[in-house]
Amino acid sequence: MHSKNRISDPRIEELLTVVQSRTSLSAHSIKQGILEHLIYSLGRSPHEAPKQAYYKALAFAIRDRLQHRWINTVQNYLKGVRLKKDVKVVCYFSAEFMIGPQLENSLINLGIEPEVRKAVADLGKDLDELIALEAEPGLGNGGLGRLAACYLDSLATLERPAIGYGIRYEFGIFDQHIRDGWQVEMTDKWLRGGNPWEIAKPEVAYYVGFGGHSESYRDNRGDIRMRWIPDRMVKGVAFDTPVPGYRVNTCNTLRLWSAEACESFDFQAFNTGDYYQAVEEKVISETLTKVLYPNDEPEAGKKLRLSQQYFFVSCSLQDMLHLLDITGQAITEFPDRFAAQLNDTHPAIAVAELMRLLIDERLLSWDDAWQITCRTFSYTNHTLMPEALEAWSLALFQDLLPRHLEIIYEINRHFLDEVRQRYPGDDERIAKLSLFDETNLRHLRMAHLACVGSHSINGVAELHTELLQTSILKEFYELWPVRFNNKTNGVSPRRFMVLANPDLTELITETIGPQWITRTDQLQKLEAYAEDPNFRQRWLAVKHDNKVRLAGYIQKQIGISLDPSWLFDIQIKRIHEYKRQHLNLLYILTLYCRLKRNPTLKLPPQAFIFAGKAAPNYAMAKSIIKFIHAVAETINHDPEINCLLRVVFIPNFNVQKSQIIYPAADLSEQISLAGTEASGTGNMKFALNGALTIGTLDGANIEIRERVGAENFFDFGHQAFEVQRLKREGYSPSSYIENDQQLAEIFHLLDTGHFTHGDREILLPLLDNIRSIDPYMVLADYADYISCHERICSLWQDQDKWTSMSILNTARSGCFSSDRAIREYCDQIWKVGPVPIKLPPENADRPLVEHDQR
Ligand SMILES: *Cc1c(COP(=O)(O)O)cnc(C)c1O
Repeated sequence: MHSKNRISDPRIEELLTVVQSRTSLSAHSIKQGILEHLIYSLGRSPHEAPKQAYYKALAFAIRDRLQHRWINTVQNYLKGVRLKKDVKVVCYFSAEFMIGPQLENSLINLGIEPEVRKAVADLGKDLDELIALEAEPGLGNGGLGRLAACYLDSLATLERPAIGYGIRYEFGIFDQHIRDGWQVEMTDKWLRGGNPWEIAKPEVAYYVGFGGHSESYRDNRGDIRMRWIPDRMVKGVAFDTPVPGYRVNTCNTLRLWSAEACESFDFQAFNTGDYYQAVEEKVISETLTKVLYPNDEPEAGKKLRLSQQYFFVSCSLQDMLHLLDITGQAITEFPDRFAAQLNDTHPAIAVAELMRLLIDERLLSWDDAWQITCRTFSYTNHTLMPEALEAWSLALFQDLLPRHLEIIYEINRHFLDEVRQRYPGDDERIAKLSLFDETNLRHLRMAHLACVGSHSINGVAELHTELLQTSILKEFYELWPVRFNNKTNGVSPRRFMVLANPDLTELITETIGPQWITRTDQLQKLEAYAEDPNFRQRWLAVKHDNKVRLAGYIQKQIGISLDPSWLFDIQIKRIHEYKRQHLNLLYILTLYCRLKRNPTLKLPPQAFIFAGKAAPNYAMAKSIIKFIHAVAETINHDPEINCLLRVVFIPNFNVQKSQIIYPAADLSEQISLAGTEASGTGNMKFALNGALTIGTLDGANIEIRERVGAENFFDFGHQAFEVQRLKREGYSPSSYIENDQQLAEIFHLLDTGHFTHGDREILLPLLDNIRSIDPYMVLADYADYISCHERICSLWQDQDKWTSMSILNTARSGCFSSDRAIREYCDQIWKVGPVPIKLPPENADRPLVEHDQR
């Protein structure tokens, strides 16, 4: 390569020798890279190095191969901005990024898995074993955090400039252990072995204040201005993780902030002789990013949580302003250079913080600052449940962010003036719209702050957006209908098909070519094969192998054996009453009772697989986990039953595990009470992997059913409007038990402690709650759920028909790719186009795309 005569510049020649050994994608060079890192980065002899060291050396070698793409991507964006090429960067603000393991994803995106497998084998190691050693960065709770990760994947693949901004939690979502059927939480020490994917940038750091007071002063033009005198400062340091696109040179950045004590503050205390206080200060500062709050739906009131939110938002906005400055842009250009998306209300304080930075620090006028702010932000709502809407008590807020509270009062004053002009005398409406909830001990409503400060407000599925507009944000919709829009969620086909389901990927690619991986609408071409007996056979064989893989995992980890020919019926997601894992249990118990009554009953053998974490302080959800284990233990040990039914709970559900489970499902359980699940994304992962869905008409289930066809989807239960009517008319759960012999029998068995070794107490709070309140109407949907399952059982007998339906589910689910969602966000909200990245000559290796996929 040195002799390529088109390169004559000696400086490039020099770079070439440095760079080439780390950019080459050949097996030989990758092997060299692994050895080099083993010896020089990790200080190990290749002969005695443990597998963990090999994993890490491999990770470093692969990161090397992303590095020049990453550096060039950032340089290209900056250069583009300097040349006034209208480059605009998406800044995705999210308190959670559940990115999952990085190694295999990088191999797939670079397209070098075969070379790496060979390199690793040459060193006497097995690639899959090394991949399995990666600690999962579990920096999220569930759907919302995983969505943010899928969106970063799609932004990079679609070559859109983007930065993910979030928090580098030292402890991510807890590890779930099961003891005696109960969930036990253990801290997730994911950084224990070091994280080869992140690069610390200690020089990229910003100061963030807390507490104190504000004061007025006259600026040098004689105008009165405000400034904030915080009484504590924390330093935020950037840790960057590469986000490579699929077979493109684009490699975007996930920038997570870690809290450190400020040296200057330490020093001050040191001077006054209080060394120990200085150390204490340091400890307090660093607890800020210690741990992720493990609640799936936010709960109110924790000061540390508000501190975390403000901390990462302030660092991110300061970083954006810094980027604007170094490219020589005027502050008025800010909204043309950056589009900032608020992933739920967790980062909503950004509205007040940008205002503060603009008026207090950049000395802009209120009106100019407000215009910039509203043009910059857009807001995604993720929940309809009133108790999940974030609200901060004013006392707490005042204590932590006094200057922001003043600014928010001012925002509210301007806003309500506008409302009064539109609706003179309508005090009720004003109370409903106000940023402050005056009824509830005075709280600040973060969703309202996000709405007022954003030019776009979106829900995450059609039904959800509709319900937003008619319920919790109704008055905002009436005020600003054009701000509202829907962006149905999506999932990455790279992670959840190519990576998670390689056999299916191969079969599809062999049949319709590889373009579907970035153009999932092309999956439609599979429709032509839905009735082809040969193709059906192969489709079925792939599903069977995936079930063998999952059964092997379950046998090894939990010691329960499952027959892969059984129907695999799977519900994996956070444990929550609204998601109704207990409704699923009532079906299993119904089958149990029927079999006990009639042991010769004809029934297809079924394996019920659950997984999911419960928030540590959510007693009802933890009882549901115990309930699942109680039923599992009884059924799995009963020889009359376990030849037809088995129940498994897979502990510690995370991205890594999800990749084994989704592809092995025959049936996907999406059974939330209609009107409660905003969208769901698990439902999409299942459908793309050819599972049929049993689901309520809730969230994106409705759109999945529309796409795959009602005849290929099993819907049941009350619809959202019927749920509302039932509630209005007075819902009485006990009457359902009185009028249904089967339900009465199940509750009787449970009450006698039949599944709990005679213990009548442990499940009682859960059972009583269902009998007396049943907040998510499990009993109202029970009968329809059972009869829906009966239809599924009879269809399962016809494997050809089932397989055709499975093929059609995959073929017609292409629109649930996160690429589709991101294209919509880019075109309709962010106005951000592609910026293809060209590598300079010294970095030009073989192109990543052998076949044209665009
Ligand atoms: C997709 C996903 C979720 C979200 O699942 P839902 O069924 O939409 O609630 C949660 N956790 C993990 C690890 C996931 O991959």
